[in-house]
Formats: sequence, C-alpha cells, structure tokens
Amino acid sequence: MKIKELGEFGLINILSRKLPDTSNMVIKGIGDDTAVVKPHAGKLMLLTTDMIIEEVHFSLRYASFESVGWKALAVNVSDIAAMGGTPSSAVVSIGIPEGMEVKQIERIYIGLSDCAREYGVDIVGGDTVKSPGGLVINIALTGWVAPDKVLYRSGAQPGDYIMVSGPLGRSVAGLYALNNFLSGNDSEMIREVIAVHLFPRARLKEGRFLAEKGLVTSMNDISDGLASEVIEICQASGAGCELYTERIPYTHGVTEIAAIAGKSPLEWALYGGEDFELVFTVCENRIDAVQAAMDKESCLPSIVGRILPTEEGCSLIEGTARKVLTAGGYNHFK
Ligand code: ADP
Ligand code: MG
Repeated sequence: MKIKELGEFGLINILSRKLPDTSNMVIKGIGDDTAVVKPHAGKLMLLTTDMIIEEVHFSLRYASFESVGWKALAVNVSDIAAMGGTPSSAVVSIGIPEGMEVKQIERIYIGLSDCAREYGVDIVGGDTVKSPGGLVINIALTGWVAPDKVLYRSGAQPGDYIMVSGPLGRSVAGLYALNNFLSGNDSEMIREVIAVHLFPRARLKEGRFLAEKGLVTSMNDISDGLASEVIEICQASGAGCELYTERIPYTHGVTEIAAIAGKSPLEWALYGGEDFELVFTVCENRIDAVQAAMDKESCLPSIVGRILPTEEGCSLIEGTARKVLTAGGYNHFK
C-alpha cells in the first residue's frame, strides 16, 4: 500500500504499534502534543540529535530499510555512550518521499525497534512529513548521567595515553564492499565489515563502565574518523598529541578489502569514520585498570597515542617520521 492511501495518521498508528513497550519512566508516549517522561532524580540530562539523509549518509541501493532505522538510532546512542551516559527517550522525525510503500516504512521501524530494545531506549514520539527529495530521518535522544561521572572532551592532560575501544576502518571497508558488490554470503570477513557499516554497535556498556569507574579523563565516539576525533579532544583540552600509526588497530578484513580497493587500510582506520568505537584518554597509572576492566566487557582496547602539551601540536608518527596530523575524514561543508 502507498502511504498516500493511508494518510499521516493511519501511518503513525501502524508505526507506533511496531514499537516496543516503553519503560515505567514514560508517563505518556505517542498520542498527545508532547511525551511526558519522569526525570532521573539526581542525574544530569543529556540531549543529542543526529539526522541521516538519503544519498548523503546512506543509499537505498545497498542499505536495507531495517538498517536505516537501526543506524539512525545507533548513532545517537553512540553519542550518549561517549558522555558516559545511559540513553533514555527518543523522538523520531521522518521525511518520506512520495511513492514510498507503507511496508518500507514499517521495515525502517523494525530496525529502529530492534535498536531501541538493544540499548533500552523508549521511543516516545516523532513527526511524519512528506519529503520532496530523498528519505530523511532525524532522531533526538535524551540520556542521563551522574553529575560527577559525565565525560567531556576537554579533560585530557599531557602524558595521558590515547586509547581506542576496538578496531577501526571496518565501516568504510563495508561501504566499499557494498558499493562494489563484493559478495556478502561466501566470506565471513566481508559479512563482518558490511554488518559494521549497516548495523553499527554503540559502545554503550563500555562508555558507561569507563565513566562510572572514573578510569578516563576524556572521551569521544568515532563518527568522523580517529584523526578528527582526537583533534577535537586536543582542541577542547588545550593539548597536543601524537598518534602512532603502527599501533592503530584494524582487522584482517580491512587489510584485505583495502588491498582490493587499492587503498591504505591505515587511511581507512584514521580517516574512515562511522566505526562508532570510543576514543578516550587515560592517565598512565590507570592503563592496567582499563585493560583489565575492558577485557571483561569483551572489547580489546589499544593504546594508539599520547597527549602532549599544546605547544607540541598534533602529530602522526610513522616509524621515525613525524607528520602533522590533520583531521581528514568527512566534512559536510568542504
Ligand atoms: P502534533 O500535531 O501534536 O505535533 P502529530 O499529529 O504530529 O502531533 O503526531 C501525533 C502523535 O504521534 C504524537 O505523539 C507524535 O509524537 C507521534 N508521532 C508522529 N510521527 C511519529 C513518528 N514518525 N514516529 C513516532 N511517533 C510519531
Ligand atoms: Mg499537537
């Protein structure tokens, strides 16, 4: 059925029935002028939003509707994770191109609901409009964090180690595989990177754990590439840094697919983005505690660099060569 035949309210009705039941924090979900949600007593509220647009952030040539729904929410959860917080309530605005089928929007909501269940998010409302161009989804998400646990980008100190929560470059390798029709069924390696691109995981448990235990001094999620996120931490902290290229982790799959693409896996890891791993800074005497704690959380953190005094600037160390570290990565307005 076309959406035109169903109308806005008919569609909202169908979609809201797809969503998981909300938690007991929600007094009123979908169905009034606003949602009504209880505050978390004694906590700070976090509030974030991220928009994804067809042919800018995803293409329906390769992305399933379920993955578009999943990713739209997961990228927001990742931002809450990077503050050391816990996600709470989301509102979902969707701009729908003329001619789309109700079933297709329902599939977006299946992915969205799976993601909401995975990370404990209540979907409490939204807006549904027509788009004269492509499909647009914007999600705003609240979260909460204890006032003494919130993790800013600005806390890095010279001498801190820079760590990442897992391997990088998989998302861009997955995008390459999708765009170039590398087969997804016969190779575990290709399936893995495609899954990272289409159904990214937010490092929610890990972010919260690091924050609660007070193990790190600053944190950021890697949406735009490691180089860019580390530079953000340095700018916010008034510090410099060095990144060691040989320490930057990427998987065998990334190496193989980069070879097929004639690209450098290191460039993908540094500038690729959308891996949604966490990058964080750790005081030297906390490194062992982080390694021990994070292993328990089934993630493999690695040291990739060091924070320096601001006068030293930001560098990339490759063997004995020292280059100026630039953000690279994706910038919408460049
Ligand atoms: P209003 O006109 O008061 O802004 P709407 O008619 O736009 O309300 O929406 C009716 C209800 O449906 C509201 O609770 C709104 O939050 C919810 N809603 C609208 N669109 C969506 C959507 N795409 N996903 C989830 N909830 C939605
Ligand atoms: Mg109203």
